[in-house]
Amino acid sequence: MNAHDSEQMAQILSEAGYVETDEVGRADIIIINTCSVREKAAQKVYSHLGRLKKLKQKRPGLVMGVAGCLAQEHGTGFFRRAPYLDFVLGTHNIQHLPGMIEEIRNTGSRIADTSFHRSVMSLGIRTLPPGGGVSAYVTIMQGCNNFCSYCIVPYVRGREESRAGADIVDEIRFLADNGIREVTLLGQNVNSYGRTLYGDADFPTLLGMVNEIEGIDRIRFTTSHPKDLSEDLACCFADLDKLCEHIHLPVQSGSDYVLRGMKRGYTAGEYLEKVGMLRDACPDIAITSDIIVGFPGERDEDFQKTIDLMREVRFDNTFSFKYCDRRGTASEKYDGKIEEKVSGERLCALQSLQERHSLEKNRYLDGRVEDVLIEGLSKNNDADITGRTRGNKIVNLAGDADMVGRTVRVRIVQAYTHSLRGEMLEGGRNVC
Ligand code: SAH
Ligand code: SF4
Repeated sequence: MNAHDSEQMAQILSEAGYVETDEVGRADIIIINTCSVREKAAQKVYSHLGRLKKLKQKRPGLVMGVAGCLAQEHGTGFFRRAPYLDFVLGTHNIQHLPGMIEEIRNTGSRIADTSFHRSVMSLGIRTLPPGGGVSAYVTIMQGCNNFCSYCIVPYVRGREESRAGADIVDEIRFLADNGIREVTLLGQNVNSYGRTLYGDADFPTLLGMVNEIEGIDRIRFTTSHPKDLSEDLACCFADLDKLCEHIHLPVQSGSDYVLRGMKRGYTAGEYLEKVGMLRDACPDIAITSDIIVGFPGERDEDFQKTIDLMREVRFDNTFSFKYCDRRGTASEKYDGKIEEKVSGERLCALQSLQERHSLEKNRYLDGRVEDVLIEGLSKNNDADITGRTRGNKIVNLAGDADMVGRTVRVRIVQAYTHSLRGEMLEGGRNVC
């Protein structure tokens, strides 16, 4: 989501006549787009700002600001921490960026714009991926109403609001006309898409509409909240030819006690039922997840239940984090905070189990033929290209630049933990 916000900022600034540079020392404007979901990301911002301070001292005409979740959270507080900043731009006001920079340049004033709006204008800013990629993000909704006890998102992104289906379809047609082959629909909980719209729009209906768009070969989405995952959505994986066989379904914990404290609205058993429903509809669906370890009150037996759930589901991949307090959230005030050392050990154990499962899942693909959408040249080897299977696995194979943007038939010849090696089949260039 933040990456897409950065693309949108780059887009409206380029429309206003600004040109991107890779050399920070040459920039006239520097924007740090921030995330505050976890402590680590927030800390990085402050150390980065400390380094940029020197540039501002050397070139007082330089306009420097922060945007994103941390900007929304701290507002003018940022000016106290970093007095050399010129602006603080909240999550609902990206469209104000060019005007804001103009005003700062003309008046020398400092501006903080962190107001919330029911309808966020910037949702409609159309971007193409930098560097001419073939995959693009499309925001279908903003904010979140779930208020999981540990999470800052509802506070920094505001209440949930869905975009009209017709606007989303229009944007995806525009992307297809500009060479995009794969779209990822973005929302904090796409399963509740449509609740704020009048009429009977829901997420499976939207997926059906996107599936009809000519030029688009692949559809993905993120994130799906387990409590709202419906049978209709599971059936989409069987019925919609463009919907890729992968779902990111964050479980967060395998312990009902912890899940209750997190206010996730499902039990581990209900999560497993949803996984069963998905696998009934689409047996080979890849399932990835987010997991938090060391949530307040998490006992050894709770952590063991997370490990048991992982063994049962066998996720293709997981993103795992040590719990950290976020300001203003419910769990910040919970008792039973877990020692850093214990969280660290649990994270290590979980991640090494996941490595084994990821490798096992990748080995299952060894020898099989997969459709791979080629995304670009490999960063590690000049003679290689890289792409993804429909299950979202990275595949490297020999090939050249003219294959970028094409879907090719590839036999998997080697499985690693985080990627696959493939060989294009004869005639495999011609899938689409
Ligand atoms: N809307 C998505 C998640 C957005 S935040 C969902 O509901 O799944 C991305 C991930 O960050 C979460 O899934 C969670 O695993 C992690 N996260 C959020 N707040 C956290 C916190 N306070 N400490 C540690 N991890 C956190
Ligand atoms: Fe945060 Fe929960 Fe909303 Fe996801 S669903 S953004 S974890 S509050």
